[in-house]
Amino acid sequence: MAFAITQTCCADATCVSVCPVNCIHPTPDEPDFGRTEMLYIDPATCIDCGACADACPVDAIFPAGDLTGPLRVYEELNAEYYAGRDVLAEVSAAPNFHRWAPPSFERVLPSDFAPLDVAVVGTGPAGMYAAEDLLLHTNARVTLVDRLPVAGGLIRYGVAPDHPSTKKIGETFARFHDHPRLRLRLGVPAGAELAEKHDAVIFAVGATGARRLGVPGEDLPGSLPAATVVGWYNGHPAIEPDAVDLSAERVVVVGTGNVALDIARILTADPEELARTSIAPEALARLRSAKVREVVLLARRGPETAAYTRSELLALAARGTLVVDTHDPRTASAIDEGAGNAGWLQGVPRERVDWAEPPPDGRRIVLRFHSAPAEFRGDTEIRAVLASDAAGEVEIPAGRVVRAAGFRGTPVPGLPFDEETGTVPNTAGRVPGHPGVYVAGWIKRGPSGGIGANKACARETVGALLEDAVAGRLPLRRRGMAARLRGRA
Ligand SMILES: Cc1cc2nc3c(=O)[nH]c(=O)nc-3n(C[C@H](O)[C@H](O)[C@H](O)COP(=O)(O)OP(=O)(O)OC[C@H]3O[C@@H](n4cnc5c(N)ncnc54)[C@H](O)[C@@H]3O)c2cc1C
Ligand code: SF4
Ligand code: SF4
Repeated sequence: MAFAITQTCCADATCVSVCPVNCIHPTPDEPDFGRTEMLYIDPATCIDCGACADACPVDAIFPAGDLTGPLRVYEELNAEYYAGRDVLAEVSAAPNFHRWAPPSFERVLPSDFAPLDVAVVGTGPAGMYAAEDLLLHTNARVTLVDRLPVAGGLIRYGVAPDHPSTKKIGETFARFHDHPRLRLRLGVPAGAELAEKHDAVIFAVGATGARRLGVPGEDLPGSLPAATVVGWYNGHPAIEPDAVDLSAERVVVVGTGNVALDIARILTADPEELARTSIAPEALARLRSAKVREVVLLARRGPETAAYTRSELLALAARGTLVVDTHDPRTASAIDEGAGNAGWLQGVPRERVDWAEPPPDGRRIVLRFHSAPAEFRGDTEIRAVLASDAAGEVEIPAGRVVRAAGFRGTPVPGLPFDEETGTVPNTAGRVPGHPGVYVAGWIKRGPSGGIGANKACARETVGALLEDAVAGRLPLRRRGMAARLRGRA
């Protein structure tokens, strides 16, 4: 019986390097890497050694035979990745695949190289992967800075509290906080001025601003950005415990990404189940007395292009509280035909929802595709969402709206900023015109990709930094060398 990778995989590829028979794919050397939502174990080659399960930072790997309930489907999903394909032949044909190469130590600086002083701003995954790379592969001294009093970035204040395995990766990162060459400074907002005291600065400050919808009524009281809701249930220090009012029976969430799914799941969950998680106590108290019975996820396009990942959707569907609104016949056809991501909804109950009726008893989540918000209506606060469909417009009564249509980076004082992408312009992490300044993570490449995607991203940035260090392109170090030479003269 082989092992199988399950829902919480964040594709950081830690397991790949420990597998003795190379049966976990795609590996970081393969073209598919970064394009699949998770990695998969080939059941035909796995020798059941369990090394990958021990190495996985988020407890995503189990013997396939031990999988129960909604996790059982992952045995099939792992096998499905290999069905009808010869992975080894494929990767051999890929241009940059090296089946075997001599060990490469390109991150180790020359042995006589004086330690670099590097500031890393941000303790989320990108900052931590960058710090880890520097500490493990160079003799650099790292100053790790975060404006929040608690480290972890979105692992701490974004990942949903009912995903404890995913949050566990925070413990792996926290082990580096005590490294003898790391100085941790929390509760300190930082900008480009750090460059004056360090050989290099890596900004890994994330992207937690909200993308605007451009819909009338967007700023009415009761219309909340997703960051407020996820920060609220995670106890973010900058978000008031009463920031989310749950006295309405229906909440509309605009968006179908994993964050929209997280919010819908938490708002409709059994509070007793949530009580066993790391949810903020104030949020739990509010959820216990919440009137919310229905969360409607509004998607402009059809289910074939829904932004959630298959694993998150399957986990939600397994709870039995999901319903697809069939107001547009294209939705059912796409599901039946299995077009794109629509096939994942096969087996989920369907219903033509009558918005004139109050939500039924119990709690449920309604997926409504081909329906875009045209206006948020209300006098002093939200009372309804006007949704525009192929057949016209429909008013969906709702007391709260959550805007989960994507995150956006915000400018870093002193650095250039691309307003369109919400990122700091960069080449492989280098910020042009700012020698010694680098970016990693969501502020570098935009707000997409799970935790693991930041590993390769941070690695690229650290690689650029070390290249510049060896080539003498770090300005403070140049000035330092000049001063030392003057001192010797
Ligand atoms: C709600 C939500 C849930 C998610 N759930 C999952 C999941 O379950 N699984 C998964 O794989 N991925 C998940 N992701 C994606 C994952 O969290 C991101 O890929 C990752 O956090 C991005 O890392 P980052 O380091 O770029 O940014 P962040 O994690 O946002 O870290 C940025 C850090 O920089 C700090 N900072 C910002 N500005 C400054 C400043 N000026 N000075 C000092 N410090 C500063 C912030 O306080 C923060 O700690 C989720 C994302 C969101 C938004
Ligand atoms: S989280 Fe990392 S180690 Fe765990 S299964 Fe996914 S890729 Fe492998
Ligand atoms: S159990 Fe062993 S052989 Fe199987 S995938 Fe994990 S590391 Fe590889």
